[in-house]
Formats: sequence, structure tokens, C-alpha cells
Amino acid sequence: MSTHERASSDDASLYRRRFEALVQAHSAFVWTCDREGKFVDEQSGWAAYTGQTFEEYSGIGGFAALHPEDRRRVWKEWARALKNQVSLYVIDMRLWHAATQSWRWCTLRGVPVLDESGEVIEWVGSATDIDEAKRNEVNLRESERRFRSIMECVQAVGLTLDAHGRITFVNDYLMTLTGWTREEVIGRDYFEIFIDPNCFIRDHFYTGIVSGDIFPHAENEIITRSGERRMVAWDNTVLRDSNGEIVGVASIGRDITEKRKAEQELRKSEERLRLALQVSRTGIWEVDVKSETLNWSDECFVIYGVPKQTFDGSADQFWKRVHPDDLEMVRAEIQEFVAKKKPLVQEFRIVRPDGEVRWVSSLGHVTLDENQNVVRLTGTVIDVTSRKQTEEALRKAERFAAAGRMAATVAHEINNPLASLVNVVYLLGKQELQGPERELLSIANAELSRVVRISKQTLGFYQGEKVPANVDIVALVEDVKASFEAVSLKRNISLTTKIRGEKFALHGIGDEIRQVLINALTNALESGATRVEVRVRGIRQGRGNRRSGVRVSVIDNGKGIDRENVRRLFEPFFTTKGEKGTGLGLWVSRGIVLKHEGEITMRSSTREGRSGTCLSIFLPTVATVPLATAADAKV
Ligand code: ADP
Ligand code: MG
Repeated sequence: MSTHERASSDDASLYRRRFEALVQAHSAFVWTCDREGKFVDEQSGWAAYTGQTFEEYSGIGGFAALHPEDRRRVWKEWARALKNQVSLYVIDMRLWHAATQSWRWCTLRGVPVLDESGEVIEWVGSATDIDEAKRNEVNLRESERRFRSIMECVQAVGLTLDAHGRITFVNDYLMTLTGWTREEVIGRDYFEIFIDPNCFIRDHFYTGIVSGDIFPHAENEIITRSGERRMVAWDNTVLRDSNGEIVGVASIGRDITEKRKAEQELRKSEERLRLALQVSRTGIWEVDVKSETLNWSDECFVIYGVPKQTFDGSADQFWKRVHPDDLEMVRAEIQEFVAKKKPLVQEFRIVRPDGEVRWVSSLGHVTLDENQNVVRLTGTVIDVTSRKQTEEALRKAERFAAAGRMAATVAHEINNPLASLVNVVYLLGKQELQGPERELLSIANAELSRVVRISKQTLGFYQGEKVPANVDIVALVEDVKASFEAVSLKRNISLTTKIRGEKFALHGIGDEIRQVLINALTNALESGATRVEVRVRGIRQGRGNRRSGVRVSVIDNGKGIDRENVRRLFEPFFTTKGEKGTGLGLWVSRGIVLKHEGEITMRSSTREGRSGTCLSIFLPTVATVPLATAADAKV
């Protein structure tokens, strides 16, 4: 053997050993078989792996070491490979593994060894244990399948991305939400399709993929096909392959757009409410029925004048502040409120710790539990002292105006007889009179002058101090209506307005027209009515439709006015309310309306079931309202 030959034979054995080592490193074992696919030589690898003896595996006995379910398939494939002399035969199968006494997945590879003429001499091959990889693959496929099927039936967004941010899975929910179809998005860049280009999360995604550290929870907007934005709350996990390499991200998201909107709305409305309460100085109170504790908002402390630090949350704190004269009424009303579970509307006086008496108005409602028991009383309270004072002032003003007009009328009426008396005395003074008569006449003259002076002064008292201006009658009506809201609520009377047309400005004295409306509404609400409506309507009326103006009607379904009383309504001091009425309201109203060159009429019915009263006032748009006093009060 030449050196060369030895060297090459050494080389050959070296290569052979290397090859075997290599195969060993990657495989379970190597094998050889004859051209018909039968084991003829000893297969140490096969024997070691499967535990079969030579007798057992020789020929086609090796098939006995295959999993019964795989035998048929492998047999067929193998027969085809032998027949076709494929250049590389690869097949997966389960082989019995003697060491672990279990079936394990293996990949069998085989190549035919050919002679010079191209005929197959034998087959050589390797078997590789792929059980772990196979199991991982199966598990992965299984968990992926599960993920997908779960994702299709939950009301949530389901999404997986590969490590490049390309979409590998989307569920129907996401498609419905965004208006895309699966074909349009699968394989495409997620961020390009769904995310605002200015959004930072793309960067987060890539750094997360690299570091394996992604945000498990995140909220961000996605953009729908039509460009709408939806807020989604995500739960994210990284996906890894069997080697632990990050291959992508799986995310489940909830569409929280509406929730966010609702939260924002709630925050806004809470804020608005808080502001409204603050601005309107409305206090909120709450009584827990079971624990008998009282809860006051900051504004309550201001209204009741109680320092917050002295407040112990007992109901006593409230009762101590109620005016002694109103205590009984307040108690009775609250008892009724709780017993009948109806809304509470009350007005009463309180005495603050410093002794100041103030009026408050309180509204409340009850909260019931599932057994209809009252668990909580909640309500508002406002200080209405200044309104009460205004009301009182208005009442006084009505009386005062009435008294003034009365005096003026009387003065006017006696002016003419006075004038003739002055003439008579003057003529008498021209007569030849003796001492005592002349004396008496001069006394009469002096007294008469005094009466004339008083009369003139009286006329001067009743001055219309107000200057006429443009009056927005609709605003006025709404304003007056608002001031009666609490009263009508309390008495369970529906008070409505009906405005036909838009702007009805007219020239007049707003305060006086207000007085007319206040009286009309007071009368209507005291008429026993359950419904009161104020109608405002622009009209043309008068001869030849020359005058345009506004008609305000106050209509009630009260008990009406008896026929014999109708004539007397506009008389001063006519009232059916005894001590409570002045009987001056309509009389003063008529004076005011006439001064505005308008008309005031009253229609009423006392017929059972159809009773009611309509007070109708017409005010012309342009009236020459005198600057000073009413026409009938001129000297
Ligand atoms: P007062 O209201 O002080 O009694 P008014 O001059 O305003 O004085 O009213 C006079 C009377 O006219 C009332 O006492 C009442 O009998 C009657 N009256 C006025 N308006 C109505 C109405 N809407 N329904 C029934 N009666 C009314
Ligand atoms: Mg009245």
C-alpha cells in the first residue's frame, strides 16, 4: 500500500468516522437495508433504539416497531419510494423507544446507493428523534387553534402580529368594528392600517419585540376603515416558538370608546352640576334613615350659618335651626313626605346661630330599597330670603299703589266740587257782610284753601315714577312664571306657557305689567285650578285692524266666578278671599292696562266639570304711555 494509498484509506476512514459522528450528533441512529427495503445486516442503532433483536427486525420485521397507526402509511410510502427509486426518502413516524418505553416521533431519511449502471444496490439512511419538536409543534398548533376559536366567540378584539408587526390573525369582531375584511389586512403592516402615524406605539412594539418586554396592558386608539377612531384597551403577550424565540405578539382588546365617552360625559355633567350648585348657592342634604345621620354639602353650612367643625351629623343639627313658628309645619310635611314617598317641596324660616332669621326653600325625594322601604332622603336647599323680601315688597307696593290711586281718584273726584266751593266763597266775599259773618267767611276761606292744597298734594303723591321703555313681554312672562314655579309645584298645579310667534316688544312700564301678571297668576293659582296656562300671542286688533299688539291670557280650570260677582271684579276692595285678599289686584291691573291703552277682560264659567276663568289682557305695541301719572289722575 503506497503512502498515498494509505493516506487516502486513512482519509477515508477518518471521513467515515467524521460522518458517523456527525450523523450521531443529529440523529438517533443510522441504518442500511437492501434494494428491496429489507434489513439484512445487523442494525445496531435500530436495535438500541427499538429494543428489537436481529431476529425480530430482519426482513420486514422492523415494521413491528412502528406505531400501529403509522404502519400502513409508511408501508405504502416506502413501497412507492422503492418503486420510483426516489433520490431522497423522508417520512415521519412513531417508533417504539425501548429506553423510555414509549412511542416517539422520528424522521426517517433514506437515499438509494446506485452502481455504475444506475441500479439500486442498497439504501442507507438515518433516523432522527423529533418527538420534542413535534410535540411542540402540535401543542403550538393546538394552542393557536384554541386561541383562534376562542377569539371568534368573544366580544373582544383578537389579533396576532409577527415579529415584524405584520398581521397574522384577526378575529371577526375586529373586522366588524373596523370595517376591513380579513383578505385586506392579513400579512399587512398592522401599524400602517390601524394606527395613527403620529402614535408612539409602533416604536414600543419594536423595542418590546427586541427586549421581550412588551406592555401587558395598554390603551390606544385604532382607526377604522372610514377613519373613525375607537379606543381599545389591550392585553398583550409575546408569542415564542419552541426555542423560546419571540415570533410575535398576541393581543386581546376591548372597545372602550363608549365607556370612555360616558365617563367623560359623567365627569362633565358632574362638574356642571357642581358649578351649578355653587353658582346657585344650592346646598345638598342627605338623611340616612337607618343610621339617622345627616349629611350636608358645603353650601348647606353657609345657608344655615353653622360652622362645619361643630357639625356632628345628627338630625338635631337641622331641627335646632328651624324657626319655632314653622317647626310643626316642617315636621308634618317631612312626615308626610316619608310616609307617602312623594316629592318634598317646602318653604320655611330658619334661625341661624347668630339669631338671623332667613327663609329657605327645600326640595327632596326619597330613595327606596327593593322592598319599597325608604332608605334615604336626598334634597336641595336654597336661601330664598331675598325672594321672600321681594314678594313682600311687591305686596306692599300693590297696596301702596292702590292706596295712591285711591287717594288720587278721591282727590280728583272732590276737585270739581272744591273748585265750585272756592267760587262760591269768593262770590260770598264780594257781598256786604257784617262783622261775625265776614269773620266766619274768612275762616271758611282759609279752611277751603287748606283742603285745596291737600287735594293738590294728594294728586301729586301718585306719580308714575317709572319711565316707559321697550318691554320684552315673553321674557317677562317667563320670568314671572319662574317665580311661581315652587308654589305651583307644591300645590301640584301644572303651570305652562304657550308662546305663539317670537318677539313681542312693546312700549310700556315693565314693572307695572309685571304687577298685572303676578296678580293674574296669583288669582289663577288660588282658584282651585289643577292647570294654569299663560298664552302669549301677537295680534292685530281694533277697528280696521289698525292696532297691533300682544294678547296675554291667563287660563285656569279653577272653580270660576259667580255671575253676580263678575260685574264687581274690577271694583276696588272686592274680594272673596276675606282677610287673605286685598281686592285691589284687578282694580290696579285695570288701571295699568288702561294707562297702556290696552284692554282687560275676564271670562269665567262655574259649570261643573268645565269651570274655569280666562283673564285676557291686550297691550298695544305702540302706546303713548304718559311719563308722569295715569290719565285719570290728571288735575
Ligand atoms: P284678591 O285677589 O286680593 O281677592 P283681585 O282683585 O285680584 O283681589 O280679585 C278679586 C276677586 O276676583 C277674587 O277675590 C276672586 O274672587 C275673583 N277672581 C279673580 N281671579 C279669579 C280666578 N282666576 N278664578 C276665580 N276667581 C277669581
Ligand atoms: Mg289678586
